[in-house]
Amino acid sequence: MRLVEPKVFVVGETKINEDGLAAYLTHLGVPDWVSNAPSDSEKLIEIMGRLCYRSFQPGLNKNVTKIREDNKGYLQNIIKVKHGSVIEHTIVNFVFADVSRVFTHELVRHKAGTAVSQESLRFVRLDDLGFWAPTVVRENEEFMEICCNTFKELEKLQLGLAKIMELDKPGKPFHEKKVITSAMRRIAPDGLATTIGWSANMRAIRHTIEMRTDPGAEEEIRLVFGKVAEIMVKNYPNLFADYTIEVVGGLPWYKTDNRKV
Ligand SMILES: Cc1cc2nc3c(=O)[nH]c(=O)nc-3n(C[C@H](O)[C@H](O)[C@H](O)COP(=O)(O)OP(=O)(O)OC[C@H]3O[C@@H](n4cnc5c(N)ncnc54)[C@H](O)[C@@H]3O)c2cc1C
Repeated sequence: MRLVEPKVFVVGETKINEDGLAAYLTHLGVPDWVSNAPSDSEKLIEIMGRLCYRSFQPGLNKNVTKIREDNKGYLQNIIKVKHGSVIEHTIVNFVFADVSRVFTHELVRHKAGTAVSQESLRFVRLDDLGFWAPTVVRENEEFMEICCNTFKELEKLQLGLAKIMELDKPGKPFHEKKVITSAMRRIAPDGLATTIGWSANMRAIRHTIEMRTDPGAEEEIRLVFGKVAEIMVKNYPNLFADYTIEVVGGLPWYKTDNRKV
């Protein structure tokens, strides 16, 4: 067994198709429109919002005589008035690695605006169990020892069963391996380290950060979504400008007056 730390990787994000955008702005009659958005995602959300009222410049829609020029002000107003569907347009693709099945069970409850790909423990052999120790475990030597010993024993069982069931026998049909591996995972611990891919739109990311950095949430998901929030505030500062941080129990709690836009 090995001790691990949950990790957050950003592996993708929405990008603007510059040719397509230029063609649309020309079609609309505002080929020189520019935004001071710090990211493609924030610019795209601004565009999707502005097209609703044709508010790219005053007079484009005769009902509009003045507009917000600034991307930050524009996005924060959308958030304040809870025009949440506009921020669904862009996504970020994450991989969470060395997270437990405790974490993944909680994460997949967030369905709206998300996509999930989870490491299959029906296919992937558990021959090297990783364990992240929550604070209460780390702070108690006896608890820590029991956890580590249990993980070592459960790993030994997995290796032993693989031998008994001849999983490495040359020519063993893949289907049989799958059936046996899936049966073996039933005696694996919920705390084992695994990997999950999570893609979500900005509306879903905001909601999940708000719910899962809250001090009422479980420590591991607070830890992971604290990292997610730190990345989002850095990469999309205008979209998350309304967030403030309070540290509770050693972990950040991301708070806003604009919950669940
Ligand atoms: C501290 C904490 C403790 C929890 N404890 C438990 C527990 O003991 N047992 C348990 O089962 N779960 C528990 N949960 C999970 C919780 O009940 C939610 O399922 C989970 O947080 C997903 O959030 P969400 O419902 O906002 O869904 P999301 O998928 O994140 O959806 C976002 C929002 O979209 C809307 N929406 C989504 N789906 C629908 C729909 N089908 N119909 C209408 N509107 C929809 C809702 O307004 C929803 O809030 C806990 C969560 C937290 C944070």
